[in-house]
Amino acid sequence: MPARKSVSSTTLSTEKSVLTDLFDRTISYLRLSLTDRCNLKCLYCAPEGRKGKLLRHSDLLTYEELLRVVRAAVSMGMSKLRLTGGEPLVRRDVMRFINQLGEINGLRDIRITTNGVLLERYAEGLRAAGISKINISLDSLKPERFARITGMDCFAQVWRGIEKAQAVGFAPVKLNMVVMRGINDDELVDFAQLSHDTDLHVRFIEFMPVGASSRWNADTYMCSDKIKERLQDLGELIPVHRGETDGPACMFRLGAEAKGKLGFISPLSHHFCDRCNRLRLTSEGKLRACLLHDTETDLRALLRQNCSDEEIRAALLAAVRSKPQGHRMEERLKEQEGGCHGRMSRIGG
Ligand code: SAM
Repeated sequence: MPARKSVSSTTLSTEKSVLTDLFDRTISYLRLSLTDRCNLKCLYCAPEGRKGKLLRHSDLLTYEELLRVVRAAVSMGMSKLRLTGGEPLVRRDVMRFINQLGEINGLRDIRITTNGVLLERYAEGLRAAGISKINISLDSLKPERFARITGMDCFAQVWRGIEKAQAVGFAPVKLNMVVMRGINDDELVDFAQLSHDTDLHVRFIEFMPVGASSRWNADTYMCSDKIKERLQDLGELIPVHRGETDGPACMFRLGAEAKGKLGFISPLSHHFCDRCNRLRLTSEGKLRACLLHDTETDLRALLRQNCSDEEIRAALLAAVRSKPQGHRMEERLKEQEGGCHGRMSRIGG
């Protein structure tokens, strides 16, 4: 275990101070939730159930505020950004914003996570604006079930979005499936097969206890080891080196002939806190150092008090320094402490 560093070692004196937390993790990846609004109402994510209360527009950080934060973060060594939400593509003028992000010197890698509903329309523009990678959330390959999970009958539209993303040159296109026992676990084989037959990358994500409206419970949750057991008869899972773009996923190919890859993201059963390099900015402007910890810093209040860029940098560093060593969610669940209360639609996953 790395020794805990003292906060007094903080230095803000240079423009390029590196964001390192108290456990020697370098934080180089910022996730921005652009809005809590979404054109889907997924049963595990919709704010306060499907009739949830949304943030007022004035509660969201403006694009100008977001650009200030990103510039400050990049000046401290952040090089990778992910746009998420809610659904990032529903925010008005999102392409103007993305184009402005593309002009920030030092920001090497801008990615987006989307539900794909608007992707057919936006894929080309996203590519032209310099988005490097697209993740698409897809929890079912069955149109009727997709409609039940998301509250919207638009599987075909999402699928056209996926095809369009591939056609305009995004490679690989990654599909993320949140695995829920009794809801979509009978499709594990079909999703795995998709990663064999096509060059899509499929990643199975463990269902996390986030948000009051999440349907998470111990019966719905399925750990990655159980998911793998279900795939046993399909063929050998050949480990592949985790590429720079794979994030926390453990990656495999389903047999030597597989065109795509298959990944397992196991935040609960095999957590990856020791190599977490992320900081999140929620749609209401709170800095969140750990997805599964509700501690947040109110950056919006600071921004709206006409703060200096130096103060933004200090707030980013303080948030990074508040990053817990690990989320301890397994222990917290055993001790009946419950999951976290933040809403996924504001945090952005
Ligand atoms: N609207 C976009 C989308 O659907 O990809 C971005 C926002 S969504 C909150 C980001 C990711 O979080 C999605 O892949 C979603 O499936 C995942 N997610 C939401 N709630 C989750 C939970 N309780 N456990 C695991 N993943 C979750």
